[in-house]
Amino acid sequence: MGNKTGLVFFPAFDWAISPTHPEREERLLYTRDQFIEEGVLDLPDIVEYPAAVATPHEIARVHFCIPGVDYQTMTAHRIAAGSAISLSDKIMSGEVKNGFAIVRPPGHHAMRVVRGNRGFCNINNEAIVVEHLRRVYGVKRIAIIDTDVHHGDGTQDIYYHDPDVLFISFHQDGRTIYPGTGFTDELGGPRAFAYTLNIPLPPGTSDKSLLYVIENLILPVLNDFKPDFVINSAGQDNHYSDPLGSMKITAQGYAKMTEMLKPDLAVLEGGYAIESALPYVNLAILLAMAGRDYSYVTEPDYDPDALSEDQSVTGYVCKLVEQLKEVWDSREKLCRMQYNKYDKYFYQQKHIYYDTIGFEEKQLERIRICSDCPGYIMIDSHVPYQFAKDGLRGVEYSRVLAVSIHNRCCENCVAEAWDVYNKSKKDERYAYVYVQDKTVDSFLTYRKSDGREWHTEG
Ligand SMILES: [Zn+2]
Ligand SMILES: [Zn+2]
Repeated sequence: MGNKTGLVFFPAFDWAISPTHPEREERLLYTRDQFIEEGVLDLPDIVEYPAAVATPHEIARVHFCIPGVDYQTMTAHRIAAGSAISLSDKIMSGEVKNGFAIVRPPGHHAMRVVRGNRGFCNINNEAIVVEHLRRVYGVKRIAIIDTDVHHGDGTQDIYYHDPDVLFISFHQDGRTIYPGTGFTDELGGPRAFAYTLNIPLPPGTSDKSLLYVIENLILPVLNDFKPDFVINSAGQDNHYSDPLGSMKITAQGYAKMTEMLKPDLAVLEGGYAIESALPYVNLAILLAMAGRDYSYVTEPDYDPDALSEDQSVTGYVCKLVEQLKEVWDSREKLCRMQYNKYDKYFYQQKHIYYDTIGFEEKQLERIRICSDCPGYIMIDSHVPYQFAKDGLRGVEYSRVLAVSIHNRCCENCVAEAWDVYNKSKKDERYAYVYVQDKTVDSFLTYRKSDGREWHTEG
């Protein structure tokens, strides 16, 4: 007991956005073969668990799905999230010391409001685990380390104002890749300033600089933050053979990184080199989590000469680490300055692009600045133009208002948040009004057209 590594494997062989899409059914096929070939499933310290299904209630702890959870999720999404939840239960009970959820579809581009698929994601698997851990086990401090080549903009959006969840994402510089965000000045809202850290790495970054970032920035930050639980959003598209990324990371690099980060739970995100990268990277990570020798895991086409790093990259990354470490070390002062800058509310305008279908959502986010708690969030969301195409989802429900109440919200903030919800129900502009009260684990939807109001349960 306590020495084992759990594994959940859910390849979703019957689900894909389209037959030629990079996030498709075959993604985990070669990984499965590799595991069987290497006999890892026969090892006594690696335990495989069956997939599980997340309930609409578990999804509503994180997301405002427009108009509802059923509309924005298919069974495959619910199983990917549910499998990650179920593995987190095995870790919390001590049945295993850590676990790797090798599931798809991925989730880290899914934001709090869901109007459709963004960056191959509908719902955020890691955030759903975070809310489960807080609600069911009372876990207080959680760190999410996003190691996908793309910025984890969805996870950032969900925890931007939450001082209890540290979000660190390294990724290929947003000037050169989707979703075009994740810069060093995106540091979190006034009540959680510096608890979002973005490390935009230049194309061509190799294992050397990546491990430098882990050792000199991420590990010291984790050491200060002292998380009770560490989740790794494990994207394998930093691999040198990935068709979407331009990085030079190897399976060995991924394994060493995992060994250093010691995540409690790793959840698969991207990785689109189905045959040349995923089987090796996933195997090396699993062995590293199990504390086994991974040194023999190398890609058939591995060529160290082709993977050397440009000196300008090395120098750039060194400076980046220095700059962000300085921000982190002065976080208390910076947080205080941010807090003093705003009176009662902090406002943020957002333009969120849904690339899969191609439409833009506009959001006004308002956060209550409170001295007693992290405050509640009000989101006014709309899609400002009509988009009609048969069978495509998510745009016909134009304007909604959503209120999210943090699990540590004070009485005043809770009362004010409910007041906003109840008043908005009478506001003609909103087709739907939502409240997510995490202090009591209650999620309500109000539909203007027929005046119906219901709890998301199940
Ligand atoms: Zn990715
Ligand atoms: Zn408050």
